[in-house]
Amino acid sequence: MNETLREAPAATEVAGHQLLLRAGFVRQMAAGVFSYLHLGQRALQKLEAIMRQEMNALGGQEIKMPVVHPAALWQASRRWYEIDAELGRLVDRNGRSLTLALSHEETLAELARQEIHSYRQLPQLAYHIQIKWRDDPRPRAGLIRSREFTMLDSYSLDVDEAGLEAQYQAHYEAYFRIFARCGLPVLAVEADVGMMGGTQAHEFMYLTPIGEDTLLLCDGCGYRANRQVATFRKPEKSDGTETMQFVAELVAGEETIEQVVTAVLPKHVQINETKLVHLLDVQRVRPTAEQATDLWVVDDGVGDWSGQADRVADIAAAQEGDACANCGQPLRTVRAVEVANIFKLGTRYSRTMGATFVDEQDEAQPIVMGSYGIGVTRLLACVAEHHHDENGLAWPVAVAPYQVHLLALRGGMETAVTLYQNLQQAGIEVLFDDRDVRPGVKFNDADLIGLPLRLTVSQRSLVAGGVEVQVRTGGETAVVPLADLLNHVTTWLAEQ
Ligand SMILES: [Zn+2]
Repeated sequence: MNETLREAPAATEVAGHQLLLRAGFVRQMAAGVFSYLHLGQRALQKLEAIMRQEMNALGGQEIKMPVVHPAALWQASRRWYEIDAELGRLVDRNGRSLTLALSHEETLAELARQEIHSYRQLPQLAYHIQIKWRDDPRPRAGLIRSREFTMLDSYSLDVDEAGLEAQYQAHYEAYFRIFARCGLPVLAVEADVGMMGGTQAHEFMYLTPIGEDTLLLCDGCGYRANRQVATFRKPEKSDGTETMQFVAELVAGEETIEQVVTAVLPKHVQINETKLVHLLDVQRVRPTAEQATDLWVVDDGVGDWSGQADRVADIAAAQEGDACANCGQPLRTVRAVEVANIFKLGTRYSRTMGATFVDEQDEAQPIVMGSYGIGVTRLLACVAEHHHDENGLAWPVAVAPYQVHLLALRGGMETAVTLYQNLQQAGIEVLFDDRDVRPGVKFNDADLIGLPLRLTVSQRSLVAGGVEVQVRTGGETAVVPLADLLNHVTTWLAEQ
């Protein structure tokens, strides 16, 4: 099931994704929808095992919530109306509306409503690893932006904000441990709460030019934020203004109320549409050329505005070179992929969905919730992107689908079969290439697949004294006597 390909299929511009295709880890079924072949599935299982360990260490209870949800839950939280075509909707044979899981806040709040009654049952942490569907209009970069994807998501339930803060902090630290163990460097940045709602959010970002998010970083004080929320120190004076028109859409019940908004900004400053959405408390804004304005919003960086100003606030997008709001140093921009996010939901879902507990005074209170998620399939793609060279993938041991790639060449088959059995008995994960193909094909495939340690057994290696051992990263090669091999491999793996 893992045929390697000499050339990547067309329309894949991202190196890591090309290699996942060529090395036989994934295959595309439809736009943004993938099958995971054996090697891909094993690598995912490695990532998931690390996540389970870290979530269990936080006291998490693993559960599994469904992929198909009754629409009524999403109507209760209002997201049925607030989220547009990204939400997958379907109708069953009895005419009941259903939705595909875009995330699981609703189902978790419903479980909490049914299961949690008293403060004595709190705090709790539940997590699962499950498939999601988000009908992205522009799926791209393979698993980095797909429509069907797998996530680890966990949900904290507390009696108050202090409990939420403790669980939020625990996740913040656990996520750094997870990414370190997976071999992916990340930054945590302040982020927009977006379609999850709530009061505070951080995103974990892998810095890479292929990323679609832009981060603003300050080398002076360490400030870092997603551009969607980044602030900056504005000049005292602006040399003129620019205006832009938007239609702001507010969903009320099953209707959408639209307002034309004119935004006024200092000249050469771009609008930050996310800030505008929050300021107006609407679902979304879209540019328009309509003239009749209902509402004037003026950026607080506009010094001398004498026209109408219904709202004055920060609606500007921070740019490379803008002054840091904290220390005044110039901000720099970098591109990044968001691999995880953590949200303080507060009582956003528990209030609307009736998930309450009875406190010590016998009063009903909404449960205070947090929501935390890592994109498992996206993480696989980012690890592949970060760990490759011109010859192929080069997996860290913790994520590699197998630890060892055993190649049997001419004159070495019999020894290799025995070695394969011995390594497996010692608990080492071995991919055995016993195909009847040229040595060059085996070497190229081994480089492409990128397992950490390659063992080659041939007549030549046996004459030279044993088995040729090559490390995938760095490429150092040694001939190790058969008698020492097991110890050599075990020691090397333990040192990684
Ligand atoms: Zn600064």
